[in-house]
Amino acid sequence: MREVLSILKQKKIQFFFLFYILLLVPILCPLAENFTFLDKVAVFLVCGLFFAAIWVISLFISSKSEKIVYSVMLAISIIPGSIYLAYLLFAHVMMEQNSVTSLFETNPEESKEFVAHYLSLWVIAGVVAYAAVPIVMICSMKSFKRLRVRNNKVLFVLSVAVILCIVGIERVSRSVYFVNFYRTYISYKIRTNYEVKTIKERQNVDYKVESIRPDSVPLTLVVVIGESLNKHHMSLYGYQRETNPLLKKLGDSLVVYKDLVAPQVHTIPVMRSLMSMSELSHPSYFTQKPSLYELFNRAGYDTYLISNQEFSEEYKSSYDILLTLAKKKYNVAPFKQHDDIVLPVMEKIFKNPENNGKNRLILIHLIGNHMAYEFRYPKEYIVFNHKKDNLVPDAPYRDEKAKKTIDKFDNSVLYNDYIINSIINTLKSLQGQDAVMVYFSDHGEELYDYREFAGHAYEKVSPTMSEVPFMVWMSPSYRETRQDLIFNPELPYSTEDFIYSVSDLAGLKYKDYNDTRSLFSKKYELKRRYVGEKKYEDIKNKFEGK
Ligand SMILES: [Zn+2]
Repeated sequence: MREVLSILKQKKIQFFFLFYILLLVPILCPLAENFTFLDKVAVFLVCGLFFAAIWVISLFISSKSEKIVYSVMLAISIIPGSIYLAYLLFAHVMMEQNSVTSLFETNPEESKEFVAHYLSLWVIAGVVAYAAVPIVMICSMKSFKRLRVRNNKVLFVLSVAVILCIVGIERVSRSVYFVNFYRTYISYKIRTNYEVKTIKERQNVDYKVESIRPDSVPLTLVVVIGESLNKHHMSLYGYQRETNPLLKKLGDSLVVYKDLVAPQVHTIPVMRSLMSMSELSHPSYFTQKPSLYELFNRAGYDTYLISNQEFSEEYKSSYDILLTLAKKKYNVAPFKQHDDIVLPVMEKIFKNPENNGKNRLILIHLIGNHMAYEFRYPKEYIVFNHKKDNLVPDAPYRDEKAKKTIDKFDNSVLYNDYIINSIINTLKSLQGQDAVMVYFSDHGEELYDYREFAGHAYEKVSPTMSEVPFMVWMSPSYRETRQDLIFNPELPYSTEDFIYSVSDLAGLKYKDYNDTRSLFSKKYELKRRYVGEKKYEDIKNKFEGK
């Protein structure tokens, strides 16, 4: 015991180093608004135990090896540590599993903008200081006399066992931020490789998809997926600013659904969900059952993707495997243009005589109203100014900067109105075709609605992040031929089940089709709606007290 105490005295700096690397995050976890008291206690206990075990092991290694081990520890913990601490200090949340996964798949463009939005000199200075402190500590570590394993076998074995248990048991490892970070990375890689392989293979297996539509008139079905649109900033949904002047003119020919929610509040999980049959209780359906393009390919449709969001045939995001199944792909994101770049592509498809007379599905993925709102529209759309129109109500959490951000967001909503209207106009000009367009946003966006916060993050999930605008435009000839469908804008729905609704629009029938899940079916049944793993009603009650 005396031997241990004397080593402890010599190793003060080492003690503080481990404390800094392993316990800073748990000590700050009381700041996390998304964690319950028990969650926080669990994090603290697991990290405390991990710290103690590593400290004991450190008594058995030589000064020189210790410096190497600590340098490696520093190198692997600094990036996850900075991210976790930034979340805790700036957003007052502890990162949840979903967000950790999305760190590895979010496309570089999106992360750059996210960083640009939150980055300040203070943040950079903070990260530099955070990394500098332990480097200085490692340099000042003094040599010491180590313990012999043979004299302290029990202590050594026990500590190794504790470390192995914490790293090895998934539920437990989640409490140690950097272990969780790398474990998540590995399981993400294994999962996506499996998905790519399985989904490619299933394309060669028989699966019957039939269409109940008469094939005399071809159908053009356009699905437009927007980005981060807060429907309460659309005049179509009663917003005080005129942000939908063009769509409003369409009157009854545009069905505007009032009560739709998204299955998550981040692009990737939403895209994975709405393009496949996977659901909260059955995530494995992602690979086991056919996805959107597969169904339409099998039904003989020409299938297109026009994407103004980063998309890669090398599967950089875990929904790319679903998008690559489109027969023709137009990736316009690298041009870094506003969303009007999709319009000429669409017109080109329609003008090509080879494409005439065929059923087709065109999926358009817009950059929409994504964060860094001022980059989403050309300068002619700089229209709204709260100082002139006084239409941004005062609130304690809305300062001048917040109001300016709202002005910018509203400009982007006005521009989105132009884009959707232009897509509909192009469809109106089609001759001898039935046409349908569905537009919805992947998820919503919070804009200083309840607190000093703009953006979307599952840890801070709120009603305006979860609710989405959803609208359907149909050519009169299409409406005429599909009297079997209903278009009731009052029906509540989650886009988690979108694949059944879009199948219904095309009249596709297949083994896994379920008409109680289609918004347009007379047999539709409302089921409980979840956003991530939280009930939508609970989120609404928490923020709006209803
Ligand atoms: Zn999104």
